[in-house]
Amino acid sequence: MKAVVIGGGIAGLAAARRLESLLPEFEIDLVERSQRLGGKLLTEHMHGFLVEGGADSFLSRKERGVGLCEELGLAGELVGRRPESARSYVRHGSELHLLPEGLTGMIPTDLDSLADSTLLSQVGRERLAAEVDLPPVPTGADESIASFVTRRLGAEAYERLVEPLMTGIYGGDGEQLSLQATFPNLRALELEHGSLIRGLLAQSPEAVATRPPFVTLASGLETLVARVAEGLRHTRVVTGRAALGVRRSDHGYEVTLDAGERVHSDGVVLCVPAFAAAELLADLDSDLAAAHAEIPYASTAVVSLAYRDGDVVHPLDGYGYVVPRAEGSEMLACTWTSSKWEGRAPDGFVLIRVYAGRFGGRDVVEDSDDELVGLARDELRLLGIEAEPHLSRIDRWPLGMPQYVLGHPERLKRIESALADHPGLALAGAAYRGVGIPDCIHSGEEAARSLTESLARVPG
Ligand SMILES: Cc1cc2nc3c(=O)[nH]c(=O)nc-3n(C[C@H](O)[C@H](O)[C@H](O)COP(=O)(O)OP(=O)(O)OC[C@H]3O[C@@H](n4cnc5c(N)ncnc54)[C@H](O)[C@@H]3O)c2cc1C
Repeated sequence: MKAVVIGGGIAGLAAARRLESLLPEFEIDLVERSQRLGGKLLTEHMHGFLVEGGADSFLSRKERGVGLCEELGLAGELVGRRPESARSYVRHGSELHLLPEGLTGMIPTDLDSLADSTLLSQVGRERLAAEVDLPPVPTGADESIASFVTRRLGAEAYERLVEPLMTGIYGGDGEQLSLQATFPNLRALELEHGSLIRGLLAQSPEAVATRPPFVTLASGLETLVARVAEGLRHTRVVTGRAALGVRRSDHGYEVTLDAGERVHSDGVVLCVPAFAAAELLADLDSDLAAAHAEIPYASTAVVSLAYRDGDVVHPLDGYGYVVPRAEGSEMLACTWTSSKWEGRAPDGFVLIRVYAGRFGGRDVVEDSDDELVGLARDELRLLGIEAEPHLSRIDRWPLGMPQYVLGHPERLKRIESALADHPGLALAGAAYRGVGIPDCIHSGEEAARSLTESLARVPG
């Protein structure tokens, strides 16, 4: 008996690991197109710097991130952000404004702490405070994040505060992102409590957290990838080979790999981006493939630059800043990595990451390295940095981030109902129900579970 997992990002690795324990008698193949495992988890150690090329941390309250680290003996490696730098900024023009305290997620709920904020005008603050008396809109239709937050909290709170924070998660366009697919709880609170702010305040306080809200691994997130891979016992890990197609065969599926290899399998778990899944599924089920092809993706470039302390005028006294779309910049955010995490830069140096590329805008990943470094250096003039960087590294993520745009929930329903016709086929990864690392781990593990259940139902 055999199962094939296609895609060796964190979702595929989590799926293979879970399949090993659920189907101990199965042979498992994990097929990854690139030479390395990990997908968007990529850590580079360069001349004493620890550079994360993709994701840099994950939410601790979503169970399967910390949970998997604990199972792999990595609990002692989990670290939170440096408490002494616990503040972030929002860029408005060429000024950085402190992100106000008293946010619940992205939403300001402590209106007193907003009073001193320079980020919102008096009019913007008053409009936000008026939210508690605004009647809820009863219709059941989905709406964009921009539409929901603007109608509840006002245009200024959306543009200057919520939009850039939301972009930090989805790298997307709030005018297009589906509220239902991204933050369904916000709409539920509006309906239940008549007000978003009152709803958030009424939520029972979270149990005292045992871990900081965002965590990473001291030696970098790729340690998680390496540890999962090392722990695989009866999985044949095949890197540097692409899957080209999945078809039905007499006893299950036939997976075609490049170089013409055909692998017969009882079950298949696809853990690849939606556009890749669309190609793989084209011969098996054109509706399933079409639903995948409709999921759009945003491209991002991450420019990591290191400087000598003395070359940086700004104190870098925080985790960094976000740039609202309304600023008209291609930059999304600037993370002061060495202020945010311990051990990212050697003494006497700082490490900074600039994220470039807006969904719907110019495709920055097409730019040359020099152009991208130039864009990032222009941004860093704001921090008084004119010097040549001591070190630079570019990571491009073409079509790297799925966008849960309006219609995404309906698309997921179509995908699910089409999947019912294909016992032994399961799907996982960032394309569906959460882009964060813990969501992707959870989706891989769930796909392994559903595959196991559907195989148990297959007669014979
Ligand atoms: C720049 C950036 C920063 C991010 N920051 C964070 C963060 O700080 N915290 C957080 O929680 N999340 C973050 N994310 C999101 C998170 O990293 C990803 O959503 C998650 O890692 C995706 O995992 P995955 O396994 O679904 O997909 P991927 O990591 O995309 O893995 C899919 C794999 O499938 C392979 N593949 C594709 N087609 C084929 C084929 N035909 N045959 C074989 N293999 C194939 C690919 O090569 C790839 O390795 C970030 C994402 C990006 C792009």
